[in-house]
Amino acid sequence: MSSCGSGPVLQTHLSRNAGTNNDLNVSEVRGLLNYKLSCCVNALLQSFSATTELLDILNKWHPSNGTDKSNVPLQLKNILEAMRNKSYPAPYKDFLNCLYRQAIQRWTEQDADEIFHIILSLTQKQIADAVLAQEISSLYEIKLETQVGCLNCKFIQRMPNSLFSLPLAICERENSLENCINSFFQLQKLADSEKVYCEKCEKKQPSTYELKLVSLPPILCVHLKRFRNDDGFPRKLYNKVTFPETFRTAIFAAGQSEAECLSSDEHYSLYAVVVHKGTTVSGHYTAFISPNQEKMWYYADDNCVRPSTWTDVQGTYGGYRQRYGETAYLLLYRKNS
Ligand SMILES: [Zn+2]
Repeated sequence: MSSCGSGPVLQTHLSRNAGTNNDLNVSEVRGLLNYKLSCCVNALLQSFSATTELLDILNKWHPSNGTDKSNVPLQLKNILEAMRNKSYPAPYKDFLNCLYRQAIQRWTEQDADEIFHIILSLTQKQIADAVLAQEISSLYEIKLETQVGCLNCKFIQRMPNSLFSLPLAICERENSLENCINSFFQLQKLADSEKVYCEKCEKKQPSTYELKLVSLPPILCVHLKRFRNDDGFPRKLYNKVTFPETFRTAIFAAGQSEAECLSSDEHYSLYAVVVHKGTTVSGHYTAFISPNQEKMWYYADDNCVRPSTWTDVQGTYGGYRQRYGETAYLLLYRKNS
């Protein structure tokens, strides 16, 4: 899978001047060995490692059994600390085994969005501290409201909804993040075969379906849905999806007149991209990471880590010319403080 093989852990150290005091600041992204198709978990760990807010929450937790090998938040905390503190060897095999033991299958192709959700859900569930579990939710949770409108009496049923990642469908032409977001929030008329029970009319009626944004989290994960299942045949969409390095929440504004969270114009900055290369049956995951909010990019391909640039990140937009090449799959944006 990996072009780098499974050699020793390689660490990339880069020095540069920070601020005006000429202090030498050392920045580091730690590579992770590939243990038989663990590239997906590796790429996700790079993105979690760049999410310092997550480790800050985990570090407030002191579990009574500090050696529990089945506890995902404990093993996640251990590996993230090791990736940050440069201890050697990083105990991420314990984290992998912990996931294999209870949630994911060994030696199979994995979906990074699915594993992202499994890791966050188990972390929340097993942390055994309601306050910290809520903090993890609040860090990632996109709050939405599902609105189903009766076309007969215009009554609207409203249901709260929340997601850890924003699942954006991409269409078979060129896409931009903004038009994918607009499509996600667009009002849809449900087919006649999908009539919904209206409590005012007291019977099933032709209806509309719409999602409204309630609030955006400090860490926004965007899932570009490149994998599709057409009548049992899985395929990958290589279509181009452009995305910006920073955006203003105004890009969510179309059709969202009720969203209070958009009243203050906030900015988000991209800091991690989980990338998929290859096809649905033979793929490989890597990650671009910008860990220090200084627009410095690194590229992590399992144990190989090298400095990179925003231009390289833009090379993952996709498009049929780059078929089988690297395409961005998960985008992680951080709300600017
Ligand atoms: Zn009705």
